[in-house]
This record gives sequence, C-alpha cells and structure tokens, in this order.
Amino acid sequence: MAETVNAESVIEMDLSKVLVVDDNVDGRTLLKRILDHTGFHVILAGSGEEAIEKARAELPFLIITDIMMPEMDGFELCQRLKADERTKDAALIFITAYPGDGERIGQGLDLGAVDYIARPFDNRELVARVQAVARAKRAELEARQRAIIVARRNTELEFLNDLALAASYFPGFHEALNSSMPRLCRLLGAQAVALFLLEQPHELTVNVVSQDGRSVSAASAIRSDGLTPAMLYEQIPPTLTGILSDPQNSLGIGPPDASQIHSVPLTIRAAQERAVGALAVILKQGASLTPADQMLLNSAAGIVTVAMENGRLFAEVQEFNRHLEQMVEDRTRRLIEEEKKTATILASMADGLLVLDAEGRIAAANKVAEEMLGFHLDEMQGQPILAEQLRSPLWRLVNDMAVSSELTLSHTVDLPDTAKPGTVLSIAAHSAKMWGEDGQPSGTVILLRDITALREVERMKVRFMAGVTHELKTPLAVIRVHADNLLAYGKRLPERKKEEILETIQKQVVLLEQLVEDILDLTRLDTGAVHLDRRPVDLGMLADEVLAGMRTLAEAKRLVLRWEKPATANVILADDKLIRRVIRNLVDNAIKYTPEGGLIEVKVIPEAGEDKRNVCIQVRDTGIGIEPVHQNRIFERFYRVDSSHTIPGTGLGLAIVREIVEAHNGKMWLESTPGKGSTFTVMLPGAE
Ligand code: ADP
Repeated sequence: MAETVNAESVIEMDLSKVLVVDDNVDGRTLLKRILDHTGFHVILAGSGEEAIEKARAELPFLIITDIMMPEMDGFELCQRLKADERTKDAALIFITAYPGDGERIGQGLDLGAVDYIARPFDNRELVARVQAVARAKRAELEARQRAIIVARRNTELEFLNDLALAASYFPGFHEALNSSMPRLCRLLGAQAVALFLLEQPHELTVNVVSQDGRSVSAASAIRSDGLTPAMLYEQIPPTLTGILSDPQNSLGIGPPDASQIHSVPLTIRAAQERAVGALAVILKQGASLTPADQMLLNSAAGIVTVAMENGRLFAEVQEFNRHLEQMVEDRTRRLIEEEKKTATILASMADGLLVLDAEGRIAAANKVAEEMLGFHLDEMQGQPILAEQLRSPLWRLVNDMAVSSELTLSHTVDLPDTAKPGTVLSIAAHSAKMWGEDGQPSGTVILLRDITALREVERMKVRFMAGVTHELKTPLAVIRVHADNLLAYGKRLPERKKEEILETIQKQVVLLEQLVEDILDLTRLDTGAVHLDRRPVDLGMLADEVLAGMRTLAEAKRLVLRWEKPATANVILADDKLIRRVIRNLVDNAIKYTPEGGLIEVKVIPEAGEDKRNVCIQVRDTGIGIEPVHQNRIFERFYRVDSSHTIPGTGLGLAIVREIVEAHNGKMWLESTPGKGSTFTVMLPGAE
C-alpha cells in the first residue's frame, strides 16, 4: 500500500506500552509496580535523554513523566517528544508533587500533555487514568486507520472514475487507457503494470508501464482464432520475462519471477471463454496484493474490458453505418438515374402519357399529354379532374377510363383542332390499370396517340382507290362503246367514220397509258422506290430543254410560249429527270387550261431573299384560273376542278409535282385569279 497521498500518515504506536520517566528510582519503580498488574508493559527511564531514546525505540502510547528532574525537566522532555515525528503522537501525563500549583499544571497541559497526577496519588485513580488514556488512544488510532482506508478508497474510486472516463473516448481510448496505467501501478505499489490487448484478430499487443510512466510495447501473433484466459495465463509470464530480459529496456526493471506476476484476464461477461486481453501487475520481490488491491485490479480490468467491447461495438456500428450510407447513396443514385431515364423517355415520347392515382387525381403527365389536354401539370398535380374540364370529350374519355374497373380500354375521340380551325384532331386513347404491391388498384395509365395523320392516310387511300377506279372507268367505257359500235356496224360505216372511232379509241388508250404511268410514278414516290439521284444541275438549261420539246404543242393551240434562258447558270442540287417532269407537268397544265391565243410565260429566278442559293421556276398563264376554294385542293390526287372535265387529264399531275418538290426539300405555291390566269412557282434549294 504505497499511495496514501491524501490520507493521514499511519500512527506507529504500541498500545500496550507505557514509558515511566523519573530520576528517582523509587518513584519509577512504584509506578511500574502499580501498572504491571494492569496488563500494560511498563518501560522505565531515569532521565529525559533516556526517555527520548526509549520512546523512539519502543513507541509507547503513553509517557508518564516527573516534572522535576535534573538536566532535562518534564516540560522540556514533553517539547522534545512532541517535536519528534516518531513520538509526537504518544500521550503525556505529568506527575507533580505540587497539586496546588495551577500555573505549572497549566503550562504542562499547554505543551500537549493530556493529564497530570499529583503525588501522593491513589493507585486506583492512576490506573483508571492510564486506562482512560489507553482507550482514547485506541479510539484515535482506529479513527485514523478508518480515515486512511476511506482516503485510499477515494483515491481508488477517483482513479476508476478517471479510467472509465478515459475508456469512453472513441476512437482514441487505447492511448487514454495506457496513460492511466502508471497511476494504477502507483496505487498497487507494483513495479509495473502490463496491458495486453487483442486489437486485431490475430495480434496481441502489450504495453508495460512503470510507476513513473516509462513504457515498453511489443506485439505477438496469436495463432488460433480466439483468445482464452488459459492461453493468456500461459502467454503472460514468458512475454513479460522476454521484454524485461532486455537490459536496454527503458523501465529499468529486471525479468520478474512467476510469483511476482499477477494477472486478470479481460473477459466479456457474456462470453467467459473469450478474452480480449489481460491486465497484469509485476509486484516487487516478496510483495503481495491485498484483497483491496485485488478488487481494484479486477475493477480496472472490468472497465478496460467494457472499453474494448465498446470499441469493438463502436467499430461495428461505424462499419454498419458506412455500409448503410453506401447503400443509401447507391440506391439514391440508381433512383435518380431511373427517374432521369423515365423522364427522358416520357419527354421524348411522341404519344401523350397521363397517370391518375386510385382516387382519380392526376399523378403524372408528359408534355404531349399536357398539350393534347390543354393543362399544366404543375398546376394540376395531385388534383382531381375539374368539372369544367369534363366539357371536353377527351377529358371525359380520360375520366371514364380512370373510373372504369376494366383492366384495359381503347377508344378514339375526334376533337376540333384548336391549332388549325376547321379541322379535326383524332386521338386514340388506351388505358391500363396499375396494381400496388398490396394487390389493390393503384391508378390508371392512359396513353394518348394523335391518329389524325393516320386517319388522313386511310381516307386518302380510299379516295385514291375510288379515284383510280373512276378514272379508269371513263376511258374504258368510251373504248368499249366505240369498240362495240365498230364491231356491230363496222362493215356498214364509211371509212372516215371508222377512222374517227379508232382515233377516239386511240386517244383514250393514250390517256389510260398516261394514267397508269402517273399512278405508277406516284406509287413509286410514295413508297420511296424512286431513288433521288441529286446532282448539281442548271435549272435554266433543264427548262430550256423541256420547253423545246413542248413548243409545237403550244403552237398547235396558237399560244405564245415566252421563255428566256437566263444568261448565267442557276445551279440546284436535284434529280434532273424528276425536275424535267415538274416543268413538263406545269407547262402542260398551262397549255391545257389556257384558251387559244393566250400567253404562257416561264421564268427561272434566283431567289433574292436571305438564302440566295435557292432558285425558283415560275410558270404563268393567262388561262381559266382557279377559284380560291379549289386552290389548296388541286394538289390532291385525282382532284380536278369541275370546269376542267371537258379537258382530258388524270388529276395526278400536280400531286406528282408536289411529291417531287417535297422530296427535294423545295416549296411550291400558287397565285391565281379565276378567268385571268394562274402562276405556279416552285422553289428548289441550290447547290452548296
Ligand atoms: P389534270 O390531269 O387534271 O390536269 P393536275 O393534277 O395536273 O391534273 O391538275 C389538277 C387540276 O388543277 C386540274 O384538273 C385543273 O382543274 C387545275 N389546274 C391545273 N393547272 C391549272 C392551270 N394552269 N390553270 C387552271 N387550272 C389548272
């Protein structure tokens, strides 16, 4: 028990011994005789000096001294004894021969004496007084002893408290623990304390610390997976001997005997067979641990174990946290990616997509759906369909689909197209129910597809077939009638009549051929079977060539064909065969629909606008003109203005022109005044 820092020092005193000091032999012998019977061991001294010497050697609890002595009187002796650390606690009783001398008695008591006895004295009184002093001294000693124990307990508790505090430092509790070890060493009065810790699964580290904080560390490998207390008991002595056998070790402690080493394994209560380390002390030679020391060591070991276990749990929790954070991060990233993907898909969809929840509230919609239905998702998200919206047939359809319990539904609805007044928008809607994880319906997905163009194509197909049939029928009927007539009356008919009939048949056959050729060309253009062989060509030169071949046709109808080939080349990037067809069809129409004596003018004009490379070709006539109602429609297949029915034609010429112009990324337009004439302009992109 070395560290008693704040405790009062131990009183070393023999409670059985009484020292009697008197220069008079009879006096001291008398006292000895009286006290010997009481069980006290009486020591005698004949002078002050002898008394001091014996008091230091024998440590009596009581010194009874005569006041009047030669050389050193009782008072001086008292002062000397009180001044000496070894004797200061002994009680002092003066013997005086002058009981009435209050002044002297007071002086003695002031010097620290506990009592005085006046001669002659009563033996029983003397014994009673000595016994009273003995009792008081015993009580004082016991009190002091208790104070020392309490002080030591306080110091220990303070240490354990500090250790527990140090152990709670994460993650640096190892250093904190190691720095607490010198204090433990001092409390136990040991030479050194060694802390063995299993920090890695297969590595046992040891830190040996002396009272003054010097330390040596080492690590050794553990072969098996776990560490048992038995393994530790085996491992500790050779490890410590190994470390301290090194004469260079900084602790200045030699190798200990096995008897000097005392260790406590650090075991977790729930797993007694598993140790996480050990706390060992190296005692001084011949020293041993008191039960209190043992308890302190066990408590310290317990705290270190908890710290280790907390550290392990802390590390595990941290690892788990890291894992969890990583998982959350991965999941969030994936979700964001998925969300982005879905948003991109929805945004790039040509169809409208609308999602309603189980309560019929709008959950999601893409831009196309917003446009088709005429609403903003920002304003309507989470809202039910409004009553005023139900006035629109498309919203009504959406609503019906949302409230319906059918798994899938498909319907088509026609709406007035607000973007193009007077036209109709056809929307096909398909709905499908969504199901939640609980097996309950969670909403409806509705796909809205604009099928206006599809419908138009269908209508065009029907019109085309009707047109083809109709246009084929007329010449065939004419041929049939004439052929029948020829067969029935041929022999009787004059030659000139027969020739007329044959000429008519021939004209109709030419028309049929023209019709078939036009249909084939259109079909080829439609299906993309015509390969555009685009090369730089001079539009002026092309027109020049085409017009040369048509001049006789115009002259036969007494029409003036005005054409001036431009002086410079106007190069376009085009398939020359197809562009020839465009020019021929336009000029052919101009000849057909301009009465005799009229004028047809053809011009090639480089465009003056921003894009100077574009080149226009213009065919102007002074013909019958076209009523505004027909102007948009004459480019449709088989569309012919009624007035032109006396003039042969297929109704496909302008449709072919339009297809070719569009295939070249060009534009065409018409200006016409009925009865005055028409101007058709075709603009074609120039070569780079
Ligand atoms: P068609 O074989 O009937 O000429 P087109 O497609 O070339 O077929 O022309 C369609 C219709 O447009 C013609 O039937 C005619 O009514 C009208 N049309 C075309 N060109 C002219 C024009 N230059 N002047 C007046 N009407 C024209």
